[in-house]
Amino acid sequence: MKYINEYREENLTRSLLEQLKNIVKQPWTIMEICGGQTHAIIKSGLDQLLPPEITLIHGPGCPVCVTPLELIDKAIALASRPDVIFVSYGDMLRVPGSERDLFSVKAAGGDIRIVYSPLDSLKIAIQNPDKTVVFFGIGFETTAPANAMTVVQAKNQDISNFALLVSHVTVPPAISALLETSQVNVDGFLAAGHVNTVMGYWEYEPLAEKYKVPIIVTGFEPVDIVNGILMCITQLEEGRAEVENAYSRSVQQKGNQPAQTVIKQVFEPCNRSWRGIGVIPMSGYKLRKEFSAYDAELRFPEVQTITTKESSVCISGLVLQGLKKPYECPAFGKECIPQTPLGATMVSSEGACAAYYRYGRFTDFPEAIKVSA
Ligand code: SF4
Repeated sequence: MKYINEYREENLTRSLLEQLKNIVKQPWTIMEICGGQTHAIIKSGLDQLLPPEITLIHGPGCPVCVTPLELIDKAIALASRPDVIFVSYGDMLRVPGSERDLFSVKAAGGDIRIVYSPLDSLKIAIQNPDKTVVFFGIGFETTAPANAMTVVQAKNQDISNFALLVSHVTVPPAISALLETSQVNVDGFLAAGHVNTVMGYWEYEPLAEKYKVPIIVTGFEPVDIVNGILMCITQLEEGRAEVENAYSRSVQQKGNQPAQTVIKQVFEPCNRSWRGIGVIPMSGYKLRKEFSAYDAELRFPEVQTITTKESSVCISGLVLQGLKKPYECPAFGKECIPQTPLGATMVSSEGACAAYYRYGRFTDFPEAIKVSA
């Protein structure tokens, strides 16, 4: 398949690893922001092939994982209402709330429907005029344009029985928060190429300059990732801290302008709580006043008083900040497995705990059995 197979090519990956081995002189810690990159790294064993000076830590870029418990509980409350059809992407259904998940609401008779596009919710709304259709609008900047467009379409088509439960988060404020407040020491970042496809990387340039960290816009295949690490280590060894684009087949500096325009038309920045991490100032989107009629939390104000109860065992907040690896959690692979998850990072296809479980990483790999590059 064009643009995929050549980025999975073993000889090219090994050649990039060889170059990396030749240039790295001292220990460096790099965070891959996106959970999709975490899965690619663990699946292909790249972390075991890197020179020992390089440590990879996993960042908070999993939209399902960082959706706050409060929003999950609100989703469960809305989905339990007989006058609501709740519409969501499939991987939100097994994310544990305080007492239960959306699957158990569905099993108890709640009308919950899984879609691949938020625009499908409008069709459901037209077909069910006696119900309010609530779409769970989660995600980073990648999903925001389609969700914004759905609200615009609802307004243009005068579909009044549609509402959005908004839980959007954005990457640049999270990078700032990690560098300002976290105990984790990150020397450089691999930025998430799909987010940058939408947003470009102009927002990252002031961050690289302010915090003196290289940020490399990186794709999702083994060649992409090793190339991103190579560019990051090259900068670090040369004492540079810039934004560079290792995903130019998809990303331009300014990003997708029409997508950014529709985001700005519908959403405005707001403080957002990230599950396991806490509130990060101005790190999310909320609906603008002109679109408040489509805000599910305003349409059903009773969900605003929900109280939450997080698992006392789950350390996913530390995993999401790169402070702990999944196998350091006492519940990993025991009480917490994908079928009975205690935290969202074991549910999501982008969650670090799910990646370590799926690919059998139950312990750190001792140096003796590390595969040589
Ligand atoms: S293994 Fe389970 S309980 Fe432990 S941090 Fe991951 S999701 Fe939470």
